[in-house]
Amino acid sequence: MSQLSEPYLSWWIAVLGEPPPHEPLADCANCPMCAEGKFLPEVKCCGYVPAIPNFRAGGALRAGGEARAYIERRLRTGRPTETWLRPTAEEEATYDRTRMRFGQTDASKCAYVTERGTCAIWAWRNATCATWFCRHGHGEVGGALWDAAADLFRFAEGGVAVLVAGDGYEKAAERAASVTWDDLRRLGGHELAALEDALREAWATWRAADEAARPTPPPRGPRGGAR
Ligand code: SF4
Ligand code: SF4
Repeated sequence: MSQLSEPYLSWWIAVLGEPPPHEPLADCANCPMCAEGKFLPEVKCCGYVPAIPNFRAGGALRAGGEARAYIERRLRTGRPTETWLRPTAEEEATYDRTRMRFGQTDASKCAYVTERGTCAIWAWRNATCATWFCRHGHGEVGGALWDAAADLFRFAEGGVAVLVAGDGYEKAAERAASVTWDDLRRLGGHELAALEDALREAWATWRAADEAARPTPPPRGPRGGAR
C-alpha cells in the first residue's frame, strides 16, 4: 500500500502513470529519528502547525470522529479562511523562533498530534505532510523526488482550494471530489506544467538510480540456464 494518501496518490499517477516508491526507512511506527535522539518522541517531525486546505479540512469534518473533533477545535482556535484553515499568527511566530530546533521542542508541536502521538487528520493532512519522509531509499535523489512532488501538489491543492471555496469546508470537500487532474492542468497553465515537468525529471533520475542499485543477474548459458 502506498504511503501517499488521496488525492495526492491519484495526482501522482495522473502525472507519472505509476505509483510512488515506498519509503520503508521512514518507519513512523518505530521512528528512527526518535531512536537516534534527533526528535522528541512526542513531536517527531510534526514540529509545525500546517495550513490545511478547505477541502481537506472538509473531508475530515465529513469523516467524523477524532478527525472531525480536531478540525472543529481548530475552527475555534486556529485561523479559518474560506480557502485554508491556517495557523494563528502566534503559532507562526513561535515556529519562526524555534525552527532551528525543529522536532526538538514541543513549543511548535502540531495542533493535530493526538495524545497517543498520532496524527488526528492523517488521511486529510496537507501536501507538505503527505510528501515528507525523513529518509529516502535513494538518498538525495529520493529527497529531490519528494521535493518535486511537494512543490507540484502544494500548487495544485492551493488551486483546488480556490476553485471549491464557498459555503463552508464540507461543501468544499464535496466539490473537490469531482475535480480531475485534467481540470487542474487546464487551470494551472504554464506554472503547473513546469512543476509537472520537474516531477517527471526527478522521477526519471530516481528510476535510473533504482535501476543502477539492482543486483546484476548472472549471465545466461547457451541453453538459457545460468552458468
Ligand atoms: S517521517 Fe517523521 S514520524 Fe516518520 S519516521 Fe521519519 S521522523 Fe519519524
Ligand atoms: S497534520 Fe498530522 S502529519 Fe502533519 S504535522 Fe500535524 S500531526 Fe504531523
